[in-house]
Amino acid sequence: PIRVRFAPSPTGPLHIGGVRTALFNYLFAKKHQGTFVLRIEDTDQTRYVEGAEDYIVESLNWCNIPFDEGPGKEGSFGPYRQSERKHLYKQYADELVAKGKAYYAFDTAEQLDAHRKDHEEQGKTFIYNWHNREKGRLVNSLVLSKEETQTKLDAGEDYVIRFLSPQDETLHLKDIVRGDIQIDTNILDDKVLFKSDGMPTYHLANIVDDHLMEITHVIRGEEWLPSLALHYQLYEAFGWQAPEFAHLPLILKPTGKGKLSKRDGDKLGFPVFPLAYKDHKTGDISRGYREDGYFPEAVINFLALLGWNPGTEQEIFSLEELIQTFDLEKVNKSGARFDPDKTKWFNHHYMQEQHDDVLAKDFKAIQPELETIDVNYVSLVVGLIKERANLITDFWELSYFFFETPTELDEKAVKKAWKDDSSEVMSQVLSLVDSVADFTVENLQTIIKGWITENNIGFGKVMMPLRLALVGDLKGPDVFEIMFLIGKDETKRRIENLVN
Ligand code: GLU
Repeated sequence: PIRVRFAPSPTGPLHIGGVRTALFNYLFAKKHQGTFVLRIEDTDQTRYVEGAEDYIVESLNWCNIPFDEGPGKEGSFGPYRQSERKHLYKQYADELVAKGKAYYAFDTAEQLDAHRKDHEEQGKTFIYNWHNREKGRLVNSLVLSKEETQTKLDAGEDYVIRFLSPQDETLHLKDIVRGDIQIDTNILDDKVLFKSDGMPTYHLANIVDDHLMEITHVIRGEEWLPSLALHYQLYEAFGWQAPEFAHLPLILKPTGKGKLSKRDGDKLGFPVFPLAYKDHKTGDISRGYREDGYFPEAVINFLALLGWNPGTEQEIFSLEELIQTFDLEKVNKSGARFDPDKTKWFNHHYMQEQHDDVLAKDFKAIQPELETIDVNYVSLVVGLIKERANLITDFWELSYFFFETPTELDEKAVKKAWKDDSSEVMSQVLSLVDSVADFTVENLQTIIKGWITENNIGFGKVMMPLRLALVGDLKGPDVFEIMFLIGKDETKRRIENLVN
């Protein structure tokens, strides 16, 4: 059975790149009736951020891509937080040392810095591997005797366990997105797997857990591609079958130049987080798609198309359709440009499909002015204006004149609509309106349009000042619909206001 995992480190809010990784894992799992696991990789306590895990869980739930197993949803592979699995990892590091695949190193931070500096002065980069590890001044169990090593360990000296990367070998790696990759082991360094504080590094914990949790496919961001060589070698060193790997392409800035960063959102004026996020240290609040009024369906839809497409022209996909159509083989290698306007386009689409009364409730929830207004009335208004809106937060600007009498007139609109004879014309419209007993859209339309044609007045001469009276501007939906919804008395009042 297919088992995939999303393995974020709780070091801050999940940004949309992380949500995309989670989504692709989710789609792949569901397509193959597999299991989607959430694993919290919190071994680096120095980078731990309070609340980050809750944020991750809430984000996945809001996006409708919940995990099957994870913290709080224990399956048979838990616990799902690495900090709760601490005791597991040491034995695996020991196993590699015993097998001669890893070794102890006692170099201090100062010593390593000095090596780096020395190399730099000679115009070289210091790599901790076969170039250096068995000669020179490095202190590790490959150059120390067994006894010397043991003495240091017994004395409680700080150590790390490093992977022993081989010399002069070519590794053959496979990635579903990138195909075959060859790596010369001479460029690899001996990565740290375990530290004397009892904590594994990301690499060791990640591989051990993927193995123990029986993960079949690792789907993650391209930034982890450089780790693939080590991960392959770790599986081999343990004698375990490696999962299949798929590295997702970068998400690029709207300009297409450079990687989209967490800071770009607030800088360029669009959210890069699923949910609004308050920074604990600075108190700054970053915008979120949920709070900005996006539908999760729209967010999921645009994220799915960042780096994947079905090879057809289709752009609108429900979650169900995504599950049916998704295919790792169709994930692109090249970076995917993030287009904030396109996200609005998707939201516009899902808004048109949404029921007006649902939208009305959401609108009421964000607009204090609507607190006492009947939801059915709001719903009728929403039905008239939503085709012009991308977001619920656009609604008020498109509809305030349905809820309050406009107090100001737009200057440009007045210039354009109000002519010398407008007062005269509007007085006549006023009595006409007054004469409509059954105040329906059809009746208003028939009577007013009939009167215009009969008297040969010209539509603009009537409709523009009329709209100005009703809206205070020349915008808004159909004039007859507006009159009908605000009602006869209010219609008359607004025309009177302008005539006098
Ligand atoms: N903890 C890593 C991260 O924060 C997981 C990388 C992986 O999926 O292997 O992205």
